Amino acid sequence: MITEETLQKRIGELAAQMNIDLKGKNVVCLGILNGAFLFAADIFRKLEIPARISFVKLASYQGTKSSGTIKELIGWNEEIKGTTVVVIEDIVDTGHTLERIMAELTMREAAEIKIATAFFKPDAYKSKIPLDYVGFEIPNDFVVGYGLDYDGYGRNIPSIYTLIH
Ligand code: 5GP
Repeated sequence: MITEETLQKRIGELAAQMNIDLKGKNVVCLGILNGAFLFAADIFRKLEIPARISFVKLASYQGTKSSGTIKELIGWNEEIKGTTVVVIEDIVDTGHTLERIMAELTMREAAEIKIATAFFKPDAYKSKIPLDYVGFEIPNDFVVGYGLDYDGYGRNIPSIYTLIH
């Protein structure tokens, strides 16, 4: 669906925009595990501003269907208060995960919250939270590769594929 080359080019563009927008801010990138580990690494290495990175784990998926419920929330060990947090998501689908993360960041008194996601499914989105950095808008299909899994596998595929049943 999306080649490695196209992915990497777009990530370069997003990072370039972040370098402009986030200059002079106290930036903490917050990668959402497991899916965002590659996107977070790729975007972070292209940042040319001082920034910290941390990860939390928050999963709402089993197999190919969203259960709509959050199953895990672990790893909040970075000082969030007063910082500009850049949430780094692999994919925003319904937005449930994002709503949960936003609530947590607000509770932890982040000064500013920006959202970056590699992929976004606008047709599935139920939230009103604006997304600041979107790699690719994609149809409402299940995709695999570039950190995204199918039952734990496929995260190491460098391009994005649509799963066909
Ligand atoms: P949301 O809470 O927005 O409905 O779902 C977000 C999470 O669901 C993502 O972080 C990801 O883990 C998972 N997810 C949503 N759509 C897909 C998809 O097409 N492929 C894979 N592998 N995971 C997905």
